[in-house]
Order: sequence, then C-alpha cells, then structure tokens
Amino acid sequence: MDGIMTSQPNNLEAFWMPFTMNRQFKKAPRMLVSAEGMYYTAQDGRKILDGAAGLWCVNAGHRRPKIVEAVQKQVFELDYAPAFQMGHPAAFELASRLINLMPGDLDHVFFTNSGSESVDTALKIALAYQRARGEGTRQRLIGRERGYHGVGFGGISVGGIVSNRKFFGSLLNGVDHMPHTHDKAHQAFSRGQPEWGGHLADELERIVTLHDASNIAAVIVEPVAGSTGVLIPPQGYLQRLREICDKHGILLIFDEVITGFGRLGAGFATDYFGVMPDIVCTAKGITNGTIPMGGVFVRKHIYDAFMTGSEGAIELFHGYTYSGHPVACAAALATLDTYQEDGLFQRAADLAPYWEDAVHSLKDARHVIDLRNLGLIAGIELEPLPGQPTKRAFEAFLKCFEAGVMVRTTGDIIALSPPLIIEKAEIDRIFTTIREVLATIE
Ligand code: PMP
Repeated sequence: MDGIMTSQPNNLEAFWMPFTMNRQFKKAPRMLVSAEGMYYTAQDGRKILDGAAGLWCVNAGHRRPKIVEAVQKQVFELDYAPAFQMGHPAAFELASRLINLMPGDLDHVFFTNSGSESVDTALKIALAYQRARGEGTRQRLIGRERGYHGVGFGGISVGGIVSNRKFFGSLLNGVDHMPHTHDKAHQAFSRGQPEWGGHLADELERIVTLHDASNIAAVIVEPVAGSTGVLIPPQGYLQRLREICDKHGILLIFDEVITGFGRLGAGFATDYFGVMPDIVCTAKGITNGTIPMGGVFVRKHIYDAFMTGSEGAIELFHGYTYSGHPVACAAALATLDTYQEDGLFQRAADLAPYWEDAVHSLKDARHVIDLRNLGLIAGIELEPLPGQPTKRAFEAFLKCFEAGVMVRTTGDIIALSPPLIIEKAEIDRIFTTIREVLATIE
C-alpha cells in the first residue's frame, strides 16, 4: 500500500511501452490527455487532428456520447460475467447484430479481446476444424510476407515482418509465406487497386504443389495489408486466392482487424471485394476502440463441423476470461448504433474519391516515391535517407505532431486512416501539413 501511495505520478520509467523507443520517448514524451471527435488534446493543451483513428480503431471519432453512456450504464449494471458455461444478454444480442452485418453465412462469432487473439483463435479454429471433418493431416498454415497478424505466437508465425519474428525463437512449425503483392516497378502511384499483380496469387498453387493440399489447413491474409505500409491487393488477386483455396479444400482467413467496420467504405473488405472467406478476424473498430474487444466470424459449415459430437462435450477447448465481456459488448452495441445512425460506412464510401485526390496531390511532394489509397486509408512512401532507413518518415511523424496532425509511420511509409467522420477541410489540412513537413525534412 505504501508503494502505491508514494509512487510518483509523473515518473515515466515504470511503463514499458509497446512498439516504442522507450528511452527516446521518455526524454521527450508525447502525452495525450483527452479526445473528442476528430481531435486529441495533448498535455500542453494543443489540439491534434487524428489522422490515424488512434491505431486504426476509432472509426466513429472520439468520445461518442452514446458509446460512453452505454459503457457507464453497463458497468453499473453488470461489471463482469464469465462466458464459460454462463451467459449474459448483451453478448448474445451483440453476436446477432454482428452476424447481420456480415455477408453470406458468416453467421457465428467467437469473442476475443484483441486482434492478436482473434488471429490466434482463427488459426486454432482452422486446425481444429480440419480435424473435426476428418482431415487431420491438414496442419500447415500459409501467411504472406509483409503480413501483420498481431503479436501472438500464431500471428507472428504466419506474419511476415522479420523484426516481429527474429527475436522469438522457432515459432510455429509448418508455416509457409506467399510473396507480398507490392511492386513499385509496376504499381507506383496506382489509384485504388493496382492493375498489375493479380497473378501473384498463383504462388499459392506453388506452395500447394510443394506440400500437397492434404497437408494444408488454411491461408491467412489481410485483404489490405495495413501495418506494413498499406499494400492494396491487385485487381483479381483475392478472387484468385479464393478459387485456389476452393480447389484444394483450404480455408481462407481474412484478417479484417483494420479493414472491418467501414474503413474501405463498406462494412467489411469481404463486401468491398466481393470475396467470401471462411473465417474473418476483427477487433479495433468493433468497439470504436473504446474497450478492448475482438471477434472471429466463421461460416456455417465450420461451426456445424464442431456441433456433431455428443451434446455433453465442450465443442472447442478455447476461450478467454474476458470473451464477450459485458462492458465491451455494451460498447460494441452502441458503436454499431453509431455507425448505423450516422451512416458512417457510406460516408467513407462517399468521401473516398475526395480522399484519393487528396492523397495523390502529394505526387510531386518532396521525398515521395509512391502513394497508395483505398476507402479512407492511405500509404505515402518516402525515399529512405541513404543508410538510415525509417529516419525520414519518423521525423515526418514528429513534425506533423508538432504541427497538430497525428499520422502513423511504418518503415519509410506514412500511413493514414482517419475516423470516418472526417470533414473535407480536415482532409485538406492533413495533406497540406504533410506536404509542408516533407519540404522541411532532409
Ligand atoms: N491483425 C491486423 C491486420 C492488425 O492490423 C492488427 C493491429 N494493428 C492486429 C492483427 C493485432 O491487433 P491487436 O493489436 O489488437 O492485438
């Protein structure tokens, strides 16, 4: 107790910050103390325009009253309830609401608390499904280079980012990676989906030939790769992946942790591209970022395959203490109301052409070597400073923040994904700021 009472409120040392240069940050911290709508307020009182929806999650904008009130009400009523052999109404209501948003027969949802948990849950369901249907030799998983699927061991194994993998031992066995779909020589400055590259899906055939389909459980991809710099799938690519998976009885998993809940101007990338995966991973926008939550959607044949054994047996040995947490469910229900009442998915679709023009207005901005966009998402790729990769983009991030605009960077790419409530004048401000900042950077 003494320790609690005497701890220094402003000591930054104790918190080991994630994906952060801790020592550098703690010398010059960027603290956010409140948020509303499109803006954060920094500790020094400055308003910061949120060009990243927090971390790709605050799709309806910050501190929406309906969500805040729903959370408050739920905490007072039912602070926590387990979901193992017990239930509470909000979880069932939320599941029913969510599956109505999903296309086709993606009609069951397993609740998690994050994108990473959704990915590991999806991979486990895929493996267990293959066993349940008598195809237990199908144990291999296929991911993709430059894929980001969170930080669980499953996610980093199928993920394709070397720095997220190389420090952590031997990872999962039996994982292959398809090549990523980005090629500047053929795609630079494409508007929307690049025309070139649909054939890259045929790499999946090569992997199937190598191992035989009877050994392969599932393929996982982000429909649009976000965290490695906004890589837009080439035209026809996702359709081709679906065809190859169908041909060989392989499950197709879409990791829609970023693309879900309106980011592309449709409910899900699944709708946007018209490609039906077997499993969809979600998180982030499910609660507008307010409370941690994720959900894994599965098609009917998958759920049904688990429901054939004795009724007295647990069908899937998997779950989290906080699966379907009542407060998260309340936040998610109010978030869905907010998306629907404000027509935010359609709003994103309507704004997308304006956004596209704004993105491509940077074509002649200093250091820019590629621009990519889809829905309300964009990647601005900078020429790396010779011998110092990532430095230029990080400096751009710092200077944008100073100028009152929050962007994200990954490698030498600036990634943008504003809340879907953004106004045109705010879009203009983001791109004007980036142009001006880039002009001042070495
Ligand atoms: N998958 C994708 C596609 C993501 O973008 C992310 C997070 N950026 C994750 C999984 C992991 O989500 P979380 O950080 O909530 O675990």
